[in-house]
Amino acid sequence: MVVSSTIFNASILIVDDVPANVELLEHMLQLAGYTSVSSTTDPLEVCRLHRENQYDLILLDLMMPGMDGFQVMECLTKIEEDEFGGYLSALVVTSQPEHRLRALQLGAKDVISKPFETLEILARIRNLLEIRLLNREAKKQSGVLEELVVDLQKQIITDPLTDLYNRRFLQEYLPQEIAKAKRSSSSFAVLMFDLDFFKRINDVFGHEAGDAFLKGVARLLQGCIRESDIACRYGGEEFVLVLSGASLDGAIKKAERIRKAVMELDLTIRKKPLGRVSTSIGIAVYPEHGTGMEALLRAADEALYEAKENGRNRVVVSESRNEKVK
Ligand SMILES: [Mg+2]
Repeated sequence: MVVSSTIFNASILIVDDVPANVELLEHMLQLAGYTSVSSTTDPLEVCRLHRENQYDLILLDLMMPGMDGFQVMECLTKIEEDEFGGYLSALVVTSQPEHRLRALQLGAKDVISKPFETLEILARIRNLLEIRLLNREAKKQSGVLEELVVDLQKQIITDPLTDLYNRRFLQEYLPQEIAKAKRSSSSFAVLMFDLDFFKRINDVFGHEAGDAFLKGVARLLQGCIRESDIACRYGGEEFVLVLSGASLDGAIKKAERIRKAVMELDLTIRKKPLGRVSTSIGIAVYPEHGTGMEALLRAADEALYEAKENGRNRVVVSESRNEKVK
């Protein structure tokens, strides 16, 4: 529903080569309460004016020197389609009844004959403006809805604390990554991280500090990867990186770099240093340590377990062997 004040504030352009006709229409619209009425007697100006002002309604004469109303309408339709979303609101006012049909076929939303009845033309203008404004409102609403959907889709795959991808996303992503590597006969690496003695931070400094640490590590991981890689929060203090196209050597080098960088993280909360936390990392590479998602995650997890068992603060490569790979 469009309120009256919105209709009376809508922008209207009058186009007629005869100044007396323009004045008559202008006066009539102003008397009726319309507040944003402009006009031109030069048909060559109409397209530029519409591009600048995107009128809600154009009252258009047909017989004009230089450029007739049909040509103006073609040009306006093109501007609407290319730039404004395709809805041209034009009311043709003509003294040639034989042109009515062509005007409608070319996209005029309504046609009225000269001389016209004031009440009739005012009623038609109001109807056209109502449709125009409803159309605009609907577009706006659908834009809002689209944004909402995009936002929800992001929420579904994002960990709210760290803003990294979540486990759910990883489970959708890995099968695709496997298919991609299979197609191109390439490898990729899964790095599984766990922060050592992380519980201590929570116990000593509180959960707020623990959260700050997780966010700090997440930022670090995000900064270490390329656009084709992904970083996920896998669980409490567990993270997973998927390094697209990486070889085992490349994955080990990157894991070592990250292990050192985490050790150097110097986080404080309310000016109190949180102390250092080391990290243990397990690596599994497609295809040598597994060709399916479960097998790869299991292999990385077992390697991580080994790293923990062997004293933490280290990188361990999976020992599992995919028998199909020679
Ligand atoms: Mg004329």
